[in-house]
Amino acid sequence: MNILTPPLKIVHYPHPSLRHPAKPLPAIDERVRTIARKMVELMYEAKGLGLAAPQVGLPYQLFVANYAGDSTNQEAEGIYINPVILDKEGTIEGEEGCLSFPQLYQKVRRARTVRVQAYNLEGQLLELKLSELPARIWQHEVDHLHGVLFIDKLGPIGRLSARGSLREFEYLYQRAQKRGEIPSDEEIKQQLVELERMLM
Ligand SMILES: [Zn+2]
Repeated sequence: MNILTPPLKIVHYPHPSLRHPAKPLPAIDERVRTIARKMVELMYEAKGLGLAAPQVGLPYQLFVANYAGDSTNQEAEGIYINPVILDKEGTIEGEEGCLSFPQLYQKVRRARTVRVQAYNLEGQLLELKLSELPARIWQHEVDHLHGVLFIDKLGPIGRLSARGSLREFEYLYQRAQKRGEIPSDEEIKQQLVELERMLM
């Protein structure tokens, strides 16, 4: 099975991949590099700051980001494999969106500063201390790898104000499934298990 056929694309809530915890990648091979490059491309096309593998239907611990949201700013771009948050400090509230929830923006409380670790595409282990927007992006993306979404972090007012949008996403998703544009949840869950097996 070639996972790049059909082409990778960003999935929207409530696609089951978004709730499926991702598995660590045991090796950084050509397949991982191809997936990462494609994810970077999709992130820029969608004008996002970050994109995690479960958002393209892959149950792997990998995310890509560009802190500046600018494809010409290579220094702000990163590809992070098996990322871990080691420490968190402080809290700060800020507005977040997510490419799997188009047009939904809500305030989310996050740690202000994080110390993190991940492998890059060259297989080097990086340790970084980040604050403000990069720290927020990291926390949002690492949550994705554990099946946690930003809507899970909303306060009571945020939950109430997001409710209409979430119903709309659910309606659109079910309609696309009825039309056969998206496989059934059962088929998707089976695909996720097969994609995990490819790691062994
Ligand atoms: Zn997201």
